[in-house]
Amino acid sequence: MTVLYKANMVRGAEWARLFAERAPDIPFRLWPDIGNPADVRHLVAWVPPDDIATTFPNLELVFSVGAGVDQFDTSKVPAHIPLVRMLEPGIAETMVEYVTMAVLALHRDLLHFINQQKQQVWREIRITPAKRRHVGVMGLGQLGQAVLARLKAFGFPLSGWNRSPRQIEGVTCYAGADALPDFLAQVDILVCLLPLTDQTRGILNADLFACLPRGAGLVNVGRGPHLVESDFLAALDSGALSGAVLDVTDPEPLAAGHPFWSHPRILLTPHNASMTTPDTAVDFVLDVIARHRRGEELPGRVDRTRGY
Ligand code: NDP
Repeated sequence: MTVLYKANMVRGAEWARLFAERAPDIPFRLWPDIGNPADVRHLVAWVPPDDIATTFPNLELVFSVGAGVDQFDTSKVPAHIPLVRMLEPGIAETMVEYVTMAVLALHRDLLHFINQQKQQVWREIRITPAKRRHVGVMGLGQLGQAVLARLKAFGFPLSGWNRSPRQIEGVTCYAGADALPDFLAQVDILVCLLPLTDQTRGILNADLFACLPRGAGLVNVGRGPHLVESDFLAALDSGALSGAVLDVTDPEPLAAGHPFWSHPRILLTPHNASMTTPDTAVDFVLDVIARHRRGEELPGRVDRTRGY
């Protein structure tokens, strides 16, 4: 009933310590030290190994170590084995911090001030009250909802857009592709927290930017391929967009000399918005293993036909 971990090795050592403390009866191994493959019942991975089914004949559960599974070739996981993504609170908490930072940075003209400081310019910018800055979130899942709950405290008018309808107190919710232009029409700061699927790839494109009020800001914490780079740079150049905070790019990392590195109106971070926290993730994994043994529903189970 071994758990095999195949992801970031520094954090893997932490997982190993926590497993030894909290579940000493469950053997825990770090890839590539797989031991007897027939003993491996649970796999925790960022990217799964090839030939899972033949290598681990007794595998019962596969966990994606992140909240998204687009990096995971789900076809490698046999259909009868549940694939579970991280619904652990550490990811949501760190994402909430990051998006709050990014929204406030755009709201309070931080990119502008960074550029002014570089040029030794001391010039104030009139402050827009939060109640006149509309923030919109695309993707109302675990992360989108957590972010909106925290942004409420600042007094921003809030709206959200999602595939299926949602009702969230204090948030005007829109659902489906037809409602996208109406959602975008009043959004001053747009946050993308969508999963990457065939439907959402390239969704941050010229048509979408054209629906936003002129000079809107963008925060992309979804995935790099959500953004059409050429459309985005053109929107920054034309003033359709005033600035952006990007945590994800395509590819990661960007090549040396890529225009995003030095663009004065882009703040770039290295896919660092949120991180699986071993402390809370180990508890989540142990809980899911226990539920699986009891034959219960599994939180975070990926719907492979939807792709998230
Ligand atoms: P969830 O699956 O909980 O939420 C995704 C939401 O997006 C759901 O509400 C879903 O709606 C909605 N959605 C899916 N497809 C569409 C569509 N075509 N149109 C409109 N809405 C859609 O995921 P999380 O909130 O946990 O994570 C969201 C994404 O955030 C991840 O997939 C990942 O890409 C990104 N992420 C980025 C990180 C970073 O560090 N930058 C870290 C963690 C995650 P419905 O329920 O109706 O299907």
